[in-house]
Amino acid sequence: MGFVATFGAPGMTMNYRGRLAPSPTGYLHVGHAITFWQAFTRARAAGGRLVLRIEDLDPARCRPEFREAIAEDLRWFGLEWDEGPDLGGEFEPYVQSERRLAYLGAWQKLRAARLIYPCRCSRRDVLASAGAPHGEGNEPVYPGTCRMEAGEIAAAEAPAGVNWRFRVPDGETLHFLDGRLGRQSAVAGQQFGDFLVWRRDDVPSYQLAVVVDDATMRITEVVRGADLLVSTFRQLLLYRALQVAAPAFFHTALLKDATGRRLAKRDAALSLRALRGSGVTAEELRAKFL
Ligand code: GLU
Repeated sequence: MGFVATFGAPGMTMNYRGRLAPSPTGYLHVGHAITFWQAFTRARAAGGRLVLRIEDLDPARCRPEFREAIAEDLRWFGLEWDEGPDLGGEFEPYVQSERRLAYLGAWQKLRAARLIYPCRCSRRDVLASAGAPHGEGNEPVYPGTCRMEAGEIAAAEAPAGVNWRFRVPDGETLHFLDGRLGRQSAVAGQQFGDFLVWRRDDVPSYQLAVVVDDATMRITEVVRGADLLVSTFRQLLLYRALQVAAPAFFHTALLKDATGRRLAKRDAALSLRALRGSGVTAEELRAKFL
């Protein structure tokens, strides 16, 4: 029998805690804003709290000026939050680049449990590996080249210098109940493979950081775009490995253009800033996309 994450009625607890988790890699896109609006209205409807968390772990892609711009654009769009970088609160800091120790603690726990292993394959090796099947979202399923016996895992003191991957339980079917999409399932090792928890350039992976943060910040419902559905299964494995309860999940629909094509995140014309510059109001955007 597969691992079933069990939750209460998604989000409808007295202590609802939601979050907005933008990455300051560019100006806020209308797709993100619409997802964040749904996170905001679900938190308000549940009488809960909303946390703003800045996901700035990738030094090559994140820029401080985008962080300021995102907060300004969120406010222009009509969003408000109750906890975050500038508001103080029990869980400060809310900026991922300031939370390294928390991620390191999780890495140590996973290594001690022999659930992760060092991987020396380059991205190119993974792409080139003969017959590497492609999982959801076209990401190759890691063929397990560097997997090793639990006893062999080096007693490294620190993660830097090599990639670290989580060993997924091949063939296990994982399930969760999505607040919008209903029951979701995926088979580990088929739809997704061993994934990174720490990068060789000494940056924790998105998967690890987001799980540590959502758990520490006691998030009860994660509202985010449906492009992250497969990541939710990876994250459920991390919750289980770290022995913390998983939140509920609500994956929002991805925005499409008039011809039904998914709106590209990179399209600068669809940043809130550009739309606002062209005279569009926040109300018009909500009316069009919600
Ligand atoms: N920081 C991610 C993004 O901007 C969102 C991650 C999440 O919601 O789990 O796409």
